[in-house]
Amino acid sequence: MLKAGRAQLRAVAHAVVTRNESLILTLEPHAELHTRRLLAGHRDIRVTSARRTPELNRAVGGVARSKHLEGRAVDLAGPGGSLRHLARQLRASRFTHLYGHPTEVIDEGDHLHVAW
Ligand SMILES: [Zn+2]
Repeated sequence: MLKAGRAQLRAVAHAVVTRNESLILTLEPHAELHTRRLLAGHRDIRVTSARRTPELNRAVGGVARSKHLEGRAVDLAGPGGSLRHLARQLRASRFTHLYGHPTEVIDEGDHLHVAW
């Protein structure tokens, strides 16, 4: 039986943090700040997409004027319950100011698209 040891779990966590960090660094400062805040409050959420080149955006079927092209959008994945909870927080953010004022909060099924 395969059992993940503490070292293996740490290695997986490190890989997720490293990938999150390299994606976050492509964002505009405002989107970067709020993405960092959001990840600090939701440890089971990870970034799957941030700034895209026009080529990458076309390749993944992104819309022509996607905020990803400007480094103002992130796609977030994680457990469904956590994503739904986060979506509610983001939509309420224009009143609570918790995560800035996102202009787009779109439930894409397997991920949440958020743009500032
Ligand atoms: Zn997106």
